[in-house]
Amino acid sequence: MIERVQTDVLILGSGGAGLFAALHAVARNPALDVTIATKGLIGKCGCTRMVQGGYNVSLHVGDSIERHFMDTIEGGKWLPNQELAWTLVSTAPERVRELENEIGCFFDRNPDGSLHGKAFAGQTFDRTVHKGDLTGIEIINRLMEQVWKRTAIRKHEEHRAVALIPAKDGSALSGVLMIDIRTGALRFFQARAILMATGGGPTMYRYHTPSGDKSMDGLAMALRAGLPLRDMEMVQFHPTGLLAGPDTRMTGTVLEEGLRGAGGHLLDGEMRRFMADYDEKLERATRDVVSRSIYAEMKAGRTSPNGGVYIQMSHLGPSKVAKQFKGMVDRCRDCGFDLAGGLVEVVPTAHYLMGGMVCRADTSTEVPGLFVAGEDASGMHGANRLGGNGVANSTVFGGIAGDVMSDWIAENSQRREPDEEILASETVRCTHPFTRKPGDVNRLRERLMDLMWDQVGVVRDAAGIARGLAGLNDLEAELLETGVADGSRAFNLTWQDWMNVRSLIETSRAIALAAQQRENSRGAHFRSDFPESGDLESSTFTVVRQTAGRLTVSDEPVLFTHVRPGESLLDGKAAAE
Ligand SMILES: Cc1cc2nc3c(=O)[nH]c(=O)nc-3n(C[C@H](O)[C@H](O)[C@H](O)COP(=O)(O)OP(=O)(O)OC[C@H]3O[C@@H](n4cnc5c(N)ncnc54)[C@H](O)[C@@H]3O)c2cc1C
Repeated sequence: MIERVQTDVLILGSGGAGLFAALHAVARNPALDVTIATKGLIGKCGCTRMVQGGYNVSLHVGDSIERHFMDTIEGGKWLPNQELAWTLVSTAPERVRELENEIGCFFDRNPDGSLHGKAFAGQTFDRTVHKGDLTGIEIINRLMEQVWKRTAIRKHEEHRAVALIPAKDGSALSGVLMIDIRTGALRFFQARAILMATGGGPTMYRYHTPSGDKSMDGLAMALRAGLPLRDMEMVQFHPTGLLAGPDTRMTGTVLEEGLRGAGGHLLDGEMRRFMADYDEKLERATRDVVSRSIYAEMKAGRTSPNGGVYIQMSHLGPSKVAKQFKGMVDRCRDCGFDLAGGLVEVVPTAHYLMGGMVCRADTSTEVPGLFVAGEDASGMHGANRLGGNGVANSTVFGGIAGDVMSDWIAENSQRREPDEEILASETVRCTHPFTRKPGDVNRLRERLMDLMWDQVGVVRDAAGIARGLAGLNDLEAELLETGVADGSRAFNLTWQDWMNVRSLIETSRAIALAAQQRENSRGAHFRSDFPESGDLESSTFTVVRQTAGRLTVSDEPVLFTHVRPGESLLDGKAAAE
């Protein structure tokens, strides 16, 4: 028997999107029963806590919402959904004020008391507000305090969502099947409105930055429920992930962009500064260009001992570097590197997924009662996310989702009974590994990470993607024959890992199919067999959907609802450049 729980609003995930949604939902209607169910511990999990650089917002004299919008559209290579991008940039100022004045955050200031804005790549204005290089900790700690203070918000930590369960009549969602990780019990949460805020997270690559609790579960659930996913080929690689060797989870973690911005040099294994071979902006070129340049050096075999390249800061003065980048200098020291005075090995690392669930600017999806916010949603960033637009995205749309879900429930008050057949089949699906002989799940995860890195990684081509797709089929078949010992289900981390790998394989297939479909190179997606960007006016985005158990992929036209390629919104009007 599965335990049943009822609530009004069910929020999956406790990052910036999930916590903001909860606070807004109860503020809008204090009578609502709001539940947060999250795979980790509130305040300790997800990537919002890991935000280093900061939050993009146009609050400074000389900046404007139009300028932030144009940077976002041009950075996204004209692929963003312009309604979503506009909502993001135009709501960010309100959200930053809310973070400071209501949530209790305090960001770094200029001597005159105004918010300090730092420079971030790809932006024409220094608009990234921050708290040193630990901005995410400030945001998530203050949000966590506010959420714990509101005892009316129910919290289910270490609860993993495994399936979206439709209503009996198929008209809407009924709820979500979850596993209580602590006890191993299955629990069905029936809700009037559900928010998907599990934070994407492309952790299927050999080198990656997102937190370990993220395995693309939300997008895997959405695919199985028949929902469309957009821009899945758009995986952002950050050029400078720490490369500390194969046996440490520190490998892949980000050394922030500010290092290159401040004048850091990249050197190959022969100590040659190589960026001049690739881009006139040298190390300050955009993330995608620098990542591809490093990858080319690696392919040419000009590597550091662990197979990457070096970043060097010492020429800027070790004491200055130690002061300016304290967090990063400490982290490198923990891994045996001297960032201030020596060389640190780095490698491109999968950082962010621009792709995700298709949604409207009010966070609604095509399924009534299902909403999405944060990194699970797509369309705001197009082919590239600007550094600083990630946490803005999760907090802006999380807040909107809380308001909208509250209003939606006022007009759709009924709770729908679940389709019991699907609930039963999803239960069988997630307990499947207990029906097979125990095997080595970690070996499969290692193979998946190598497969995606080698075949569908920084640089792609048709033959590699085809090998990637074939490899994913093999891995899935092996996973389904690999079991987990059925001793205790309580805190059975091998079982959780088995499900992580399954979600990652399913969503990797969506990434590979979308990469196969896009026969041009835009932003984060680079095809060596189709290196041109294609005509901007006829830009399309990819949509992957699962029907009758199979994934299909199609192209849809980008709508230029605010500005067309060649135009600019600066000075308040669309003017030909
Ligand atoms: C190292 C690093 C540095 C970054 N720096 C910046 C920066 O400087 N500026 C910027 O704008 N962006 C930055 N980003 C990106 C930014 O962190 C994210 O875009 C944003 O925080 C995502 O917020 P979210 O709420 O969508 O997801 P997250 O904050 O990642 O939260 C996801 C939540 O979902 C939960 N979850 C996952 N799976 C399940 C499941 N199956 N069931 C229930 N819950 C689940 C997780 O436990 C977690 O609570 C950075 C990211 C990283 C990794």
